[in-house]
Amino acid sequence: MATLGDRLGAGEAEGSASSPGSSGVEVVLSSDPATPAPRCPHGPTLLFVKVSQGKEDTRRFYACSACRDRKDCNFFQWEDEKLSGARLAAREAHNRRCQPPLSRMQCVQRYLKFIELPLSQRKFCQRCQQLLLPDDWEKHREHQVMGDISVTQLKRPSQLLSPLENKKTNAQYLFADRSCQFLIDLLSTLGFRRVLCVGTPRLHELIRLKASGDKKPNIKSLLLDIDFRYSQFYMEDSFCHYNMFNHHFFDGEAALEVCRTFLQEDKGEGVIMVTDPPFGGLVEPLAVTFKKLIAMWKEGQSQDNSHKELPIFWIFPYFFESRICQFFPSFHMLDYQVDYDNHALYKHGKTGRKQSPVRIFTNIPPNKIILPVEEGYRFCPLCQRYVSLENQHCEHCNSCTSKDGRKWNHCFLCKKCVKPSWIHCSICNHCALPGHSCEGPRDGCFICGELDHKRSTCPNISAATRVSNTLFFRAVRKQKQRKSNKMKMETTKGQAMNHTSVTRKKKRRERAHQYLCS
Ligand code: SAH
Ligand code: ZN
Ligand code: ZN
Ligand code: ZN
Ligand code: ZN
Repeated sequence: MATLGDRLGAGEAEGSASSPGSSGVEVVLSSDPATPAPRCPHGPTLLFVKVSQGKEDTRRFYACSACRDRKDCNFFQWEDEKLSGARLAAREAHNRRCQPPLSRMQCVQRYLKFIELPLSQRKFCQRCQQLLLPDDWEKHREHQVMGDISVTQLKRPSQLLSPLENKKTNAQYLFADRSCQFLIDLLSTLGFRRVLCVGTPRLHELIRLKASGDKKPNIKSLLLDIDFRYSQFYMEDSFCHYNMFNHHFFDGEAALEVCRTFLQEDKGEGVIMVTDPPFGGLVEPLAVTFKKLIAMWKEGQSQDNSHKELPIFWIFPYFFESRICQFFPSFHMLDYQVDYDNHALYKHGKTGRKQSPVRIFTNIPPNKIILPVEEGYRFCPLCQRYVSLENQHCEHCNSCTSKDGRKWNHCFLCKKCVKPSWIHCSICNHCALPGHSCEGPRDGCFICGELDHKRSTCPNISAATRVSNTLFFRAVRKQKQRKSNKMKMETTKGQAMNHTSVTRKKKRRERAHQYLCS
């Protein structure tokens, strides 16, 4: 499972593109359109800048957008580096070599052949994660092969394929049935007829299963995912091999057209995008990509609809709320806890620790979204939204303030609600865990605040962006700096701190506090 520090650098992360001792790496989004980014096998790379000792390095570099582990893609190029023709040619050859062995069309043809086979001849190689045609059997003779692949199995590739567990680049967390069913019912209740599934293979397949099982009008689904294995199970119009960190369609223009057509069908009416990106991913490039998909949808709108927004469900941990809302101010975070199948710790539960931190961010008005009462949600008439039972309405904040599903308490000194385990610290001037050290960084986990483990082994959530990570470290560094400043000051005893430095210090602390605690 990926950890917070997993994405490129952040000082402690191994396999990072940054040198040891650096403090972090941030993505640079406003790269000059006149100089297109060089390409790795995963499409255009992203421009990064190393931040050390709180200062940005002047030398920026390009690295893979999708892979957080150098083992998966070791692309590296300084921004100002000039490559020889020979090296460029070698890179292009390498990029070509890394593409999937079969074209999208070949996959479709293989699939059509496969479903024609009698049951006894339908085999799946578990080692290669591939459907086999009789011609392939010999090559996979010594591999573990499953036989009698039924139509039902073919319709549920997320159960047939083993979830990718590559910790850094692509850890796949599949929705638990209950959460997936909840999403499907919700989509149907809200009247959507098309769902663009970005990185949600299980949702995609369940929508299609439902669609073939009559009842209500069918919902169509198109899956965009970087996991090429899925191309074995779908025709061109229901799967595109896609990188959501750079909006790259691996099969070029034709695939892009599939997506465009899907979004613009019915003049763009009745479509929603649902995405569940890897949590280790960066929020910024994701936001840029989603804005491109939104623009694609908008192209198909008539002029008088120009104020409309493409409905979106972005599934992500709650502590990204401020980052996401910064890019999409119309988004709200729902209280619904999204559960996963293959993640023991993200399961629905009543007791604090075990609750999933993953939520749905959406631009659909929250009062239209009914959360299941039988799973412990209630409607708050004051907030006009469904919240979890434990999330009580605070009359001082005038809202249901809990973010993590536990009951939060209002602190009159902080003038806000805080986690139940916190108490107000008059030295720090804000709420914190009892037993925190008032000077210097807190000893406990940066993610959940508990004292019995560190960030890297947090059972609550094991991923977040590098950006927030960098902010963590920056906050920590500043705290350290402050501490050493303080020590310096103590040596020149009697010298009073001036007012501005005190307020600046306080502001900084509040900022750090916000990041550490929300
Ligand atoms: N909960 C979802 C799966 C989420 S796991 C479900 O059950 O349907 C994250 C998904 O994003 C995986 O399917 C993974 O293959 C995909 N993914 C990871 N990195 C990606 C990238 N760079 N571009 C597109 N998809 C990506
Ligand atoms: Zn790459
Ligand atoms: Zn309150
Ligand atoms: Zn307080
Ligand atoms: Zn923790």
